[in-house]
Order: sequence, then structure tokens, then C-alpha cells
Amino acid sequence: MQLYATATNCQVGRPDWIYLSPHLDDAVFSCGGQIALQARAGMVVWAVTVCAGSPEGPLSDFAQWLHAYWGLAETDAPAARREEDRAALALLGAVAVHWDFRDCIYRRAPDGRALYADWGGLWGPRAEEDGEMLAELTRRIVELPSSATLCVPLGAGRHVDHRLVREAAEQTGRPLVYYEDYPYAGEAGEVEEALGEGDWKPGVVALDEAALEAKIAAALCYRSQITSFWADEADLAAHFRAYAEGVGGGSPAERYWRRIRS
Ligand SMILES: [Zn+2]
Repeated sequence: MQLYATATNCQVGRPDWIYLSPHLDDAVFSCGGQIALQARAGMVVWAVTVCAGSPEGPLSDFAQWLHAYWGLAETDAPAARREEDRAALALLGAVAVHWDFRDCIYRRAPDGRALYADWGGLWGPRAEEDGEMLAELTRRIVELPSSATLCVPLGAGRHVDHRLVREAAEQTGRPLVYYEDYPYAGEAGEVEEALGEGDWKPGVVALDEAALEAKIAAALCYRSQITSFWADEADLAAHFRAYAEGVGGGSPAERYWRRIRS
């Protein structure tokens, strides 16, 4: 069930909080500050990455292009990214759990056609063939320890894997806390669009300097992903700090959302 699970340098046991991460970086990029605070307080925290599996068969042109862009052209990119994730979560004191679903760039239809063959596909409608993954993912989320608070992506930025993880989590009927998918959430209007209709209550979690610095240091462990979003390490750190200060009204914070049920 939990391929590649590791728990080095941190406490294993019944989790108090579980973060669902579509990809190998989302939980840390979005929630690394709160994870640091919780681990420091002695809580058991799991970051479960859904799409952590290695591809099977030949890569699509798009996947090959992305691998090259990440500087991982000659390697099993997800294996390298799992290493980055283990390092990041060990630094925060949390448990890395890696599930074996594949990133949308690797998923294929039964006839071999790539389901998401280009950049635009990542933000478009979900392929019909992903219905099976949605059902299986929902089953796996149901089996996660029910004592833990489950924290899931809002889907800001509309990445198809982020929306799929949110939908699967919602289908379980469990109470959820939603996080703002960073860096997508930094774009104007993306969080509002992801919230959509309905009543929501924000909760702002203040980060002390140590928690913010731990988050940035953990984010820098995802070396293959830095140039996807930022010019260099200093640029990443500056953007993380600016976003945290933005949601905290001048002092660093992360913002989470809950639905208000009537
Ligand atoms: Zn992602």
C-alpha cells in the first residue's frame, strides 16, 4: 500500500496530522512551516505523496522534455525526486510516505496514448481514464488512520493532479483542512477561484523565524524543481518569505481553509 515509505530521523507512530501531497514537493512548499511547528511540538506528521510512482514503459515526448528541464533526463526522475522529498521531510521532522500512483505526465490510456501530452493538458479537464485512479485513491485515503487531521490541496492553479487529490479526499466524507497550493496560490485570484462557491473559514497559522527558515531550507531540498518556478535559491527564499508575509499581514504565516457546514 505504501511504497517506499521511510521514516528516518523522525518519530513513526499514529499520525496526528496527514498532509496529502499530489507531487513530491507540494506539502512542503505549501505547508512546510506548520509541519515544522507541529514536529517541534512533538506531533507525528506524515506527508503522503500520491503521485510518487516511477513511470512504466517509454516516456511521452512531453515527459522527456520535462525530465530534461528538471536536469533528470538520464535518470528515473521520480526516484530522484523521492530522495529530495525524504531529505526535505527529514529536515522538518516529518514522515515521508510515497504512494505509487503516477504523475499525470506518465499516465496513458489503454491504447497507449498519453493522457496529458503537453503543458496545456496539465490545467485542462481530467481525462476520463483517470476515473479509475480517482476511485482507487479514494479507497486508499479512507484507509488512512482516522485519528489524524487530514490536510489536502485546495487545487489553486488548477493542476489536474491537485484537483484529483482534492476530489478523492472529498469523496471520503472525512472532515478536511485545505491548504493553499504554493507557488500557484501566489498568482492573483487563484485561491479565490479554487475556493469557488460555498462558505469557507480561513485560519492563519503564524510562523516564527525558525519555522519559516526550516520551510525554506526544506523547499531547497527539491533541487530538480527550483528552476521550474524560481531563478535560483535566493529567489525561492525571497518568494517564500514574501508570500508568507502577505498571508500573515506583515509577519510570516500560512493560511488554511475549512468549509463551514450548515
Ligand atoms: Zn504539484
